[in-house]
Amino acid sequence: MRIDILTLFPDMCDTVLSHSIIGRARQAKKVEINCIDIRDYTLDKHRRVDDKPYGGGMGMIMAPQPIYDCFSALCDEIGAKPHLIYLTPQGKTLTQERVKELSKLDNIALLCGHYEGIDERVIEALEPEEISVGDYVLTGGELPALIVADAVSRMLPGVLSDDECFEEESHYNSLLEYPQYTHPSVWQDRKVPEVLLSGHHANVDKWRREQSLKRTMERRPDMLENAQLNKEDIAFLSKLKKE
Ligand code: SAM
Repeated sequence: MRIDILTLFPDMCDTVLSHSIIGRARQAKKVEINCIDIRDYTLDKHRRVDDKPYGGGMGMIMAPQPIYDCFSALCDEIGAKPHLIYLTPQGKTLTQERVKELSKLDNIALLCGHYEGIDERVIEALEPEEISVGDYVLTGGELPALIVADAVSRMLPGVLSDDECFEEESHYNSLLEYPQYTHPSVWQDRKVPEVLLSGHHANVDKWRREQSLKRTMERRPDMLENAQLNKEDIAFLSKLKKE
């Protein structure tokens, strides 16, 4: 998969995506991520990319021309139109389900706003999908774009090792993950649950499933509506409710 991040701060994005799991995945060519400087496409002789809002008000608005030309150049380079996402607090909140769907595409482009946002006409012209990372406002779309790039990349084949497999992780199957432990087996008088030391894989799986169900019921009961539950899960949850 190829991910292109359209931003005024390419170094900020590239640095974050050069470390750890995603950095290794990029080096191993499991995912291609490019950070493109929108400023390189401005036709303004002073390289300006923003201006004051019409009608007055605070802050600066990113002009349509550099964004439009930046995206057009990307389409020409790829030879196809990547799925364009504009990161905005006005978009639909990102979910693991949407991340899974996005990870199946060949090309996505992530458009980062900055300052007070982007001229509405370029949003009308490019018709991006609009994604928010939550009901709060950040200074720019770079952190949200990094969130999308990270979440999507780790779903791609070979990016995570088997040990880091995501299928039991929180949200993947509309459940929260069970508690995890590592060495030592006793820390500050707190013991790792006995079953995890038993080496009995079936019992470990059963315990983990039950902990996962319990956590989800306690913390995010809304998620259980979309979870795929078997007979044992339903019996376990109804027992929990009675306790
Ligand atoms: N004036 C805009 C509004 O009220 O909707 C907010 C602009 S915000 C200060 C600047 C840029 O940060 C946005 O264009 C967007 O790209 C990004 N941004 C801020 N909060 C975000 C969020 N929760 N999710 C995704 N992008 C966000």
